[in-house]
Amino acid sequence: MKILVVEDEPSISNLIKKGLEENGFEAVQAFDGELGLKMAQRSEFALIILDIVLPGLNGLEVCQKLRSELNIQTRILMLTALNETNDIVAGLDIGADDYLGKPFKFKELLARVRALTRRSGTIPPPPANLLKVADLVVDLDAKTVTRAGIEIKLTAKEFFLLEYLMRNRNRVLSRMDILENVWDINFDLGTNVVDVYMNYLRNKVDKPFETKLIQTVVGMGYVLKEV
Ligand code: CA
Repeated sequence: MKILVVEDEPSISNLIKKGLEENGFEAVQAFDGELGLKMAQRSEFALIILDIVLPGLNGLEVCQKLRSELNIQTRILMLTALNETNDIVAGLDIGADDYLGKPFKFKELLARVRALTRRSGTIPPPPANLLKVADLVVDLDAKTVTRAGIEIKLTAKEFFLLEYLMRNRNRVLSRMDILENVWDINFDLGTNVVDVYMNYLRNKVDKPFETKLIQTVVGMGYVLKEV
């Protein structure tokens, strides 16, 4: 990941560059505002570290031109003299993403750099809320079911029954367990309803496929098993 460092003091700039490189980033330096502005227009940077006090254009002017004139949205971390609240406010107002007061510890800079580069671009989507047994997948957020990539349409009751079986995979569940948890009934209404729904579910989830996941355990109940 490439980072542009716009800072006129060579010792600070070199220190930042060295530290970034030691942490797996690539760093490119610009030592004044005008060059910084020119280089910042290249799309290759994941982040711009921008000092405010610079010869030529200062950091606030560079930031403003990038954001409002050039419409460049590369993340910007401003470096400000400590306690320069006005600079901080101005920087954030014109579109800087974060700021760090000087002098700073490199560790602090690195933490900001990591946070900002994480936020931009290649963030993997949050993990889906899935239950999986063999090639059977239940998406608890989207309320969809697929087997071997084929979508299976279930009624709400069938879906909850399947969800319960999958959450308790490899456990033999009695008809009473199932009634209590899926139908929310805690007395024996006649457990026939469980068998009826189990049959509906098997017809959809197992019947078209070679491997049968739902098994009847005689005298005990049902189990959904990864075979
Ligand atoms: Ca400076």
